[in-house]
Amino acid sequence: MDKSDIFQDPDLDQVFMTDENVLSDIIELCDLKKSETVLEIGSGPGNLTEALAAKCKKVVTIEIDERRKDELEKKFSGKNVQIVWGNALEILEKKSVRFDRIVANPPYAISEALIKALFRHDFISSILTLPSKFVERLAANPEEDRYSRLSLFSQAFFKIETLLRVEKSAWTPSPDTSSFVVKLTPRKPADSRELLLREMSLQDDKKLKNALRDAMSKSDGKTKRSAMEVIRNAGVPKKLLDKKISEIGLRDIMEVAAKFGGKKYKLVAFDLDGTLIDEKECIWKIIHDHVGTDPKIREDLMEKFFSGKITYADWAYHDIERWKEMGVTMDTLAKKVKEFRLMPGAMETLKTLKKKGYKLALISGSIGIVLDTFIPDAHRIFDHVVINRLTFEDDGKITGIDVPEDYKEKESKARSLERIASLEGVSPEECVFVGDSDNDFDVMKVSGLSIGFMPTKKISSVSDVIIKKKDVREIMKYLNDGQHNPL
Ligand code: SAH
Repeated sequence: MDKSDIFQDPDLDQVFMTDENVLSDIIELCDLKKSETVLEIGSGPGNLTEALAAKCKKVVTIEIDERRKDELEKKFSGKNVQIVWGNALEILEKKSVRFDRIVANPPYAISEALIKALFRHDFISSILTLPSKFVERLAANPEEDRYSRLSLFSQAFFKIETLLRVEKSAWTPSPDTSSFVVKLTPRKPADSRELLLREMSLQDDKKLKNALRDAMSKSDGKTKRSAMEVIRNAGVPKKLLDKKISEIGLRDIMEVAAKFGGKKYKLVAFDLDGTLIDEKECIWKIIHDHVGTDPKIREDLMEKFFSGKITYADWAYHDIERWKEMGVTMDTLAKKVKEFRLMPGAMETLKTLKKKGYKLALISGSIGIVLDTFIPDAHRIFDHVVINRLTFEDDGKITGIDVPEDYKEKESKARSLERIASLEGVSPEECVFVGDSDNDFDVMKVSGLSIGFMPTKKISSVSDVIIKKKDVREIMKYLNDGQHNPL
């Protein structure tokens, strides 16, 4: 073997970063502290090692090629550098080295295996120079063709930032590809879906059903047996459940993760008219039309409200005054309301949700009499009701209207949802809102899952899910097939 063979072995990706400027750019990006221990993978001639050692407490550098022993040990003798001889992947698997951060120009051939090994480690950040195509795949978003299992799993563990492009000319000899310096920062799992993805990637030598079972019994103390029952009843093909995770394609992994690791919704809030009640027109308009309120007065009031000249409560008081003048009584309202219908599946859905332990809310701009007519036991079904309430004399004459506190200034269903969520100790992210018309716009924006139920165009634009079938039961599909989240 001649000396040049020993010097740079292409089989070991011995391509060295010789551009001093790029080396110092990388050091700059690392933001190292004097108290930190840095792990390097693939020491090579020790050029990056040396630059790192100047900036931190200690560098632990792993090198597989013992032909470099004399050179490296001499270079770092008496310095804050510990050289570990061996295969970095095996050493990481054994967890036999301790470190705060990783900074490395690792051999390209182990890129994917290295990232996967990092799933099992905790560190402040990892700054790695990797082939540009690989980094693009790592950081790809789901809309891109290069999005892969690697992207999905890696992004479930790390915040991934591409920091710097490194040209081929920064290396000796020049490699076939340019590279990127990428920073991986471990973070807390954002939700139960991410938690499940992590679990799946860590157990990818297991069959899907067993990994799911273990994840479930670990996360919510289910027995293995009852966890398996949930899995079998969830409608995942048996063939898929029996596959090893490492052999399952991207799309199937994503579907399984969404199915079993969907967000944990705790509260479902409904709009009334047009959602639980099969009537597109709102009660206000129907009564006005019925008694023939002067359209000019109505338009004028609406304009004043929408331009902010009067409050929502003022608007309601004015409307009620018109109705009083026109002799509207409880009877008039009751007769009109009786022409409405409950939406198909409404009661069944409310009862199922209640049984499953969801908190239920009704947030409506309608009038109490509509609710009382169709859901007389609303006070037992809903944990919270926000709706306008008319007051009457004994003979049925209208005396006034109570506008919910949340609406007084401006009808804000978002404010109601946020208030109710906080009373229940959940975040709006954990709430579902089901609605159809434009006054649901603000609440649809703040709720974790917004379901547009045969929605207007404006509401479609903020709906996570759009239901076109006139059946409230359809919403159960989006709450994990009606199953409570196993995770
Ligand atoms: N960090 C140096 C060297 C990069 S070349 C630089 O920036 O210039 C990659 C180095 O990793 C080579 O020295 C090679 O011998 C080493 N190497 C290859 N496979 C390895 C493995 N599995 N574990 C540890 N080192 C490895």
